[in-house]
Amino acid sequence: MYQDVLLHIDGSWRGAAAGRKLDVVNPATEEVIGTLAHASTVDLDVALAAAAKGFSVWRNMSAYERGKIMRKAAELVRERLEAIAAFMTQEQGKPLAESRIEIAGSADVIDWFAEEGRRAYGRVIPARAAGIYQLSVREPVGVVAGFTPWNFPMSQAVRKVSAALAAGCAFILKGPEETPASCAELVRAFVDAGLPSGVLQLVFGVPAEISEYLIPHPVIRKISFTGSTVVGKHLAALAGANMKRATMELGGHAPAIIFNDADLDAAAKILAGAKFRNAGQVCVAPTRFLVQNDVYAPFLERFVHAAEALKLGNGMEPGTTMGPLANDRRVTAMEGFVTDAVQKGAQVKTGGQRYGNKGYFFEPTVLTDIPADARVLHEEPFGPLALFLPFNSFEDAIAEANRLPYGLAAYAYTRSATTAAALGAQIESGMVGINHHGLALPETPFGGVKDSGYGSEGGAEGLEPYLVTKFITQASV
Ligand code: NAD
Repeated sequence: MYQDVLLHIDGSWRGAAAGRKLDVVNPATEEVIGTLAHASTVDLDVALAAAAKGFSVWRNMSAYERGKIMRKAAELVRERLEAIAAFMTQEQGKPLAESRIEIAGSADVIDWFAEEGRRAYGRVIPARAAGIYQLSVREPVGVVAGFTPWNFPMSQAVRKVSAALAAGCAFILKGPEETPASCAELVRAFVDAGLPSGVLQLVFGVPAEISEYLIPHPVIRKISFTGSTVVGKHLAALAGANMKRATMELGGHAPAIIFNDADLDAAAKILAGAKFRNAGQVCVAPTRFLVQNDVYAPFLERFVHAAEALKLGNGMEPGTTMGPLANDRRVTAMEGFVTDAVQKGAQVKTGGQRYGNKGYFFEPTVLTDIPADARVLHEEPFGPLALFLPFNSFEDAIAEANRLPYGLAAYAYTRSATTAAALGAQIESGMVGINHHGLALPETPFGGVKDSGYGSEGGAEGLEPYLVTKFITQASV
């Protein structure tokens, strides 16, 4: 059974001070399945004071002790995987199998950062005179405010929270209002593992109200946001005006380049899986399929076949391979993109419309012959739309891949080592996957360039944004 979701503030699970609540809706059925508490500035003030206290406790604990609590939280996430997966699928829509993968991966992220926190090394810098010790030490930046979205309710939050906690920071998490329960379960695992009060707190509410209150507040020293580029630019500006550090994980419009010498069967299977996972609501989803002329027709055929083999339905039902979109706004957005492209001359090879008469379903869709001025070639669709574009030469493909202001993920399929090396060097993108997918592992960096944001969220790089450098020089007397 889905549970009503509370805030976690100052060591306790509680309703909002003003009693405000929002409904949570199952996107597969459109039924209200629960409520969530909706914080106001009164709640935020309590959370900020508790975070300041929690930080003073947590930063003084050794990285070894912090790591033990974090690893316990990872174990609890694994123990509770089935229950959390049911919450996630009911509130977000993705098939249960995808929820399970997300939750298991989140536990691995906690473990990774629990260990990585013990490696926040400083340096001893050789001095110019005898008896002087020059130290460069790494310290936690302070209290962090994080804002995470609904597409991966747990894994978007866990990367920020785990890195911050491992570094010794306290964290106020503004979770996703559309998918609150599975995010709350992440926080519950940390709390139940023994995290001191105030170190990790969870709030929900009106996103703009919360970000505009927290970001300028003197207790907050850093922010981390995952979401759309337009909101990211607004929050980054607010952070800049208040001299707060920021990590921005924003939108993408990933190119997937299929060369004449590619393994077409493998490319179609892997790319269709990546395109339609989570109904395409993935910032690193392949979107522009740039296919070299000789293999355009056979690759298109394979891809359309894979799209048509998907079984749309309620993610709780066995056999479902693609769930609904997260909300009605996304269905309206898909309809708008397809109508605009078709009016300008695009062809719909499969899909193209809303599916069924209940729930926010949209068919897996493949568009070809798309004119350059179609909106979908410029804006992130964030849904199950695959855009096919033929190309002639390597240079043409690179020019199209780098055309947009986005630069998050890019993919390519080729058997040529020379082409693969040239791609790695020339694509303007934070992540490049060649001949396989392989992104978003705990131990590898995750992040974009250009309008896709800045800062890395995984790997050893993921700890950096939560640390500041202090230089200490000491003479013996
Ligand atoms: P949206 O732009 O309203 O919201 C996107 C996310 O930002 C949500 O989580 C929302 O709660 C948050 N947000 C919005 N305004 C905010 C503010 N002023 N302060 C703090 N947080 C704020 O759009 P939406 O309809 O929810 O989602 C659609 C778009 O969002 C997509 O087109 C996609 O580009 C983007 N998105 C990206 C990711 C990602 O993984 N990068 C995830 C979810 C959504």
